[in-house]
Amino acid sequence: MSGPAPSGAVRVWPSRLSSRVYWPAFSIAAIATALIGIGWASHFGGASFAASMSGLRVVLVGPATLLILGVFLVVERVRPAQRRPLIARGHRQDVLFTVMNASLVAPLVTALSLSFAELARRTLPWIVLPKVGALPRWGAIALIFLAMDGCNWFAHLANHRVRVLWRFHELHHSQEDMSVLTVFRTHPHIHVSYLIALVPGTVLLANGAMTTTLLVIYAASVAFAHSNTNLGFGPLGRIFVSPNYHRIHHKLDGPQDVNLGFALTIWDQAFHRAVFPTPETIRTDTGLPGRPLVVEQAGERPRHLLVFAAQLVAPFRPMRDLPPNRTGTSVPAELRPRIPKDLVARVDAGPARQAVTV
Ligand SMILES: [Zn+2]
Ligand SMILES: [Zn+2]
Repeated sequence: MSGPAPSGAVRVWPSRLSSRVYWPAFSIAAIATALIGIGWASHFGGASFAASMSGLRVVLVGPATLLILGVFLVVERVRPAQRRPLIARGHRQDVLFTVMNASLVAPLVTALSLSFAELARRTLPWIVLPKVGALPRWGAIALIFLAMDGCNWFAHLANHRVRVLWRFHELHHSQEDMSVLTVFRTHPHIHVSYLIALVPGTVLLANGAMTTTLLVIYAASVAFAHSNTNLGFGPLGRIFVSPNYHRIHHKLDGPQDVNLGFALTIWDQAFHRAVFPTPETIRTDTGLPGRPLVVEQAGERPRHLLVFAAQLVAPFRPMRDLPPNRTGTSVPAELRPRIPKDLVARVDAGPARQAVTV
């Protein structure tokens, strides 16, 4: 008979592990795995995985999207909110996220979307409305678009309010050099929270469906909102999300649970979360106070791949002693002052290096 196990080892091991991981983050990974498992087992309700994935790829990085992104990249050079080199560190890092989206995230989101839609249809068959004769197809599409944008708004709010979701969404807010490609700077697991945006399309399935062209336009408008462009859309900026409007959402030292809209500002206005741009906010700095997440702008060299890996692992790592969600009000005073970026670069790089983070 063996002697008693060394009690210290038994007690210390889990607590040591707990100090190295953030367990709730695994619940999101578990939901994604379970969902895909269910979808896989039911052959995604007969939907063609390959066709759906190529459809999503067309929306994400198809020729039209790439052309539009290219135009936006030129526009943000012509009318920049903040002047910076074309190959700033942040831009190079976001290229990595773009490549990841085109290669790995597209099949993941396809599997999640097909599985979610199939699960919704199977467990709640009554949510699919029959064809409504009085509703024209364009009317159904307009309704789907509106409701989809509203669902994205609520999911985005949840990203800021629910701590475990914030751990995944934080990456998107860590960008200090915004560009159109920042739209791709998202953690793959965060897409679980946006599945709810598929509900309107499922409900109105018999009446109409979003076309690929409309989805490309929607994706392009969300991408453009992230561009480093000084553009507010004039009076239309009261309805449509402009780069100047979304920049306030990424503002370094402000509450970030405002201007949550994807394409339309109406949801922010309805819930008193709309902050419209002023000359002071147009060129405001973006990022997270205190840099709780490793960013490519810190350090003498950008070390893109290492930082990229660290950013993807970060939600599963324990939180630093920071306030939840950093919505502004609970940010400790010592984290509030913005340390000028050039000073950070100088401190990080040592006295001999110029303050350039490219
Ligand atoms: Zn956000
Ligand atoms: Zn954003």
